[in-house]
Order: sequence, then structure tokens, then C-alpha cells
Amino acid sequence: MTTPTYPDTRLYIDGAWTDGAAGATLDVLNPVDGRVIGRVAKAEESDLERALEAARRGFEVWRRTPALTRSGILRKAGELMRARAPETAAILTQEQGKPLAEATAEVLGSAEILEWFAEEARRTYGRLIPPRTDGVIQSVIKEPVGVVAAFTPWNFPISQMVRKVGAALAAGCSMIVKAAEETPASPACLMQALADAGVPAGVLNLVYGVPAEISERLIPDPIVRKVSFTGSVPVGKHLAALAGRHMKRVTMELGGHSPAIVFADADISSVAPLLARSKLRNAGQVCVSPTRFLVQKPVFDEFADRFAKAVAAVKIGDGLEAGTEMGPLVNARRVQAVEELINDATRQGAEVLTGGERIGNTGNFYRPTVLSGVTTDMRIMNEEPFGPVALLAPFEDFDEALAEANRLPFGLASYAFSRSGKAINRLAEGIEAGMLTANHLGLALAETPFGGVKDSGYGAEGGIEAMDAYLNTKFFTHAYD
Ligand code: NAD
Repeated sequence: MTTPTYPDTRLYIDGAWTDGAAGATLDVLNPVDGRVIGRVAKAEESDLERALEAARRGFEVWRRTPALTRSGILRKAGELMRARAPETAAILTQEQGKPLAEATAEVLGSAEILEWFAEEARRTYGRLIPPRTDGVIQSVIKEPVGVVAAFTPWNFPISQMVRKVGAALAAGCSMIVKAAEETPASPACLMQALADAGVPAGVLNLVYGVPAEISERLIPDPIVRKVSFTGSVPVGKHLAALAGRHMKRVTMELGGHSPAIVFADADISSVAPLLARSKLRNAGQVCVSPTRFLVQKPVFDEFADRFAKAVAAVKIGDGLEAGTEMGPLVNARRVQAVEELINDATRQGAEVLTGGERIGNTGNFYRPTVLSGVTTDMRIMNEEPFGPVALLAPFEDFDEALAEANRLPFGLASYAFSRSGKAINRLAEGIEAGMLTANHLGLALAETPFGGVKDSGYGAEGGIEAMDAYLNTKFFTHAYD
């Protein structure tokens, strides 16, 4: 396949692709070389008002659309995503930087999520509660919450959007999505698949622009009943507070600083390369990326050696080139943020086992980095690096590992490797995280809940729990003759 030309992206409002009211656009850059590859339309206030009105009307249509019809449309959209995967993945790689194989996996995974929600659309069951007196029916009814405002990030532009859109549409909600301006064209592919599959005009709207202007216009508006955000903790707290002031329901999927706990009885020769691959997926720009590698003392040196070698061997380059295993970071700001955290740590005595520098002068490439000798007072041990950086720290015993794992305000993913079922079960009990994967990498499937606790947010985005976020509970009791 020849690489498709990168497309410009317009707004999708009320069933039509449209320019912003002022005709303004934002540049889209290829992170490989910083070249402008396209433009994305910038929404003005009047565009948002049109989107709100369209979503309000769309909700009236969609809530009355039979669940079976909604299910069929979502399934069809999944099929279209699968059929269009090669072109969509190439577009995603050009704007985001991830290797084509990862981009393809994201597109296919998103098709699967659509198919999962197509099934769940048919299962928004209520229930009957036995009455206290004869001649009464007590029922619990699940209803869609209404119009949703969703904000999705650039690291997984399609799958972060599909998790929200799949659940919301399955539940019968309508939506306005603000996807990331850095990566606009791949969410537009998802939008097109849903439109082609038959989602009626107004039900799903897609906008881009100045994030703060859009969230501050949409969230307080009475038409919007639910807010869902994936992104950083500070922005999440800001939006949750705004939503709280207007009593909107909220789902927050925020950052992490995941511990990966490796006990001395684990098989280091297989765990070290497995975790290295996991760390470098999407160049570490993953909210569930393992970041603090807590390794029990007797195997620390062996783990550090094998892990650093596996990280150093990764082939870095343009994600479109065959064989590339890690691409550039998404933008120059991210490279700078990672560099600052690493420099701060090395100034305070952290040792660079591999990496620790930019690659070349073009594009946003940063050499995957492994640091040891890290201490808990370093910024990097407290702030999410969101890049290709692994922090190695030894621990003595179970209690010390658990205390370090739980030290931070984050609580998203956690990883553990041990042959001791007892250690893993104790960890499952004690870990303050939304997810724990032990002795394999098993997170983020369509059918399993995905979400965090503490500063990492609230609400789950996968599994049957994902539907709850978009459903209200109505109690209906009826005395009949
Ligand atoms: P950022 O905090 O500037 O933005 C994060 C996301 O929020 C972006 O998609 C942005 O468009 C959006 N955003 C920012 N301000 C907003 C506002 N006022 N209203 C609505 N949306 C707003 O960070 P960044 O430099 O783009 O990304 C780096 C950080 O973001 C990382 O440290 C990471 O914690 C976080 N992040 C997390 C995820 C995730 O999957 N949880 C994804 C992407 C980024």
C-alpha cells in the first residue's frame, strides 16, 4: 500500500463536515520532522452553539432509536474500521508518531471495542423489585444520561475516543467530542466510520479548537449532562471542578506513575524484556505505562542489566518505516518535559544505564532511558514522565515494595511478577490502583474495566462498568387496580 496523503480535518457538526465559522485553522505537524502536514479547523463559539443544538436534537432521535438498531450501527462501524485499518493506521502514524504496527493494533482494537459496545447496547437491563403490597410493580429503569461532552487526548487518538463514544452511543446518549488538535485526522476516520454506519445527524459531533475555550463553553451549558475527560491530572481536576459547579456527571481517566514490582523469585530473563517492550510502547506516552520498576535486591543487578540491554536494542525511527519499534514523541513540548525530568534526576545523582539524550536535531526523538539510583525526592519519582523513561529502584521486602507502590497520589495501573501466589494475592489486596496485572500484561481489553483511583480519576471505561457512566437510574413504582 502507498502511504495515503495526510488529510486536512474539518469539524463534524449536525451530520456534515464543515469549516469553523471564522475559517481559522491550526497546523498539524509530523513529529518525525516537525513538518506541517495538514490543518485542522478551529471551532468558534458559534460552532459550539450549533454543535450543542445538534446534540440536543440528536439525543431526542437516538434515545428513541431501538437498542437493537443502535447495536447494529455500532457493529457496522466496527466492520468499517477493520476494512479501513491500513489507511487509518497510516494517517495515525503520520500525526502521532507511533510505529505502523502499533497504529494498526489501535485501529483493530477500536473496532473490537465498537463490537463489544454493540453487544452491550442490547443489555441495558433494568430490574423488578418485589413490592411490599399486592398490586404494586416496582421497577428500576436505565436511561441514557443525555448529551455528553467528551475530551480525548493525542496518545491514543482513536482508542481513547472509541471507549467514550462506544459506551455513550450504546447507552443512547448523544455527544460532542473535542479530540486532540495534535492528532485530528485519525479521530475523524472514526467519526466517518460511525457516520457511514448510520449514526444519525446530530448524534455525534466532533470539534477542535482552543481546549480551554471549548471546555468552558460546553461544560456549564445546560444541554450537557455528562463530562468525560482523558488527560493530565491538573486539567482533569480543573474540568471536574467546573463540572461539579454545574452538577454534571463526570468520568475522569487521568495520569499514572505505575509501579512494576519484580520479586526475586520471578523469571528475570523473560520479565525484563517483556517489561522493556511494554515501557516503550507508544514511546512511553501511555497512562498505564510501567514507570517505577521496583526490583527485589537479590535480582536487581540482573534485572537492570537485562532490562537496559533490551531497551537499548530497540530500533527507533519513522513509524512508517518497516522494522521501527519506537517512533518520536508527539511534540517538542513532550521532549522538553522528559528531558527536564531526566536532567533534574541526574543532577541529583541518578545513574543513566542507557539513553539520557535527544536523537538528532530534527523531529521529537528521545533515546529510551533507564535510570537507577533514583530517590523519592527527585521530581521524576513523583511526576508522570509520560515518555520513554524507566526508573529502577531496589527493595528489600514485600512491605517496602507495597509502601513505595502506594506512596504517590496516582492509582491507575500496577504490575507484579512473582511465582508466589501469596505475594501476588497480598498485593492485589493492598495495592491502591484501579488495575493490577500479575505475571503477564493483561490490561485494557474491551471486556475488562479500565480506570483509576485517587488522583488518577474515577469511573471505568471498559467492561460492563463502562455503560454505567452513561446511564441514569430511574425508579418507577406503580399501584394498579
Ligand atoms: P496537557 O495537560 O496540556 O493536556 C492534556 C490533554 O488535555 C490534551 O489532550 C489537551 O488538549 C487537553 N486539555 C488541556 N487543557 C484543557 C482544557 N482546559 N479543557 C479541555 N481539555 C484540555 O498535557 P499534554 O502536554 O498535552 O500531555 C502531557 C500530559 O497529559 C502527560 O503528563 C499526561 O499526564 C497527560 N496525558 C494523559 C493521557 C491519558 O491517557 N490519561 C493522555 C494524554 C496526556
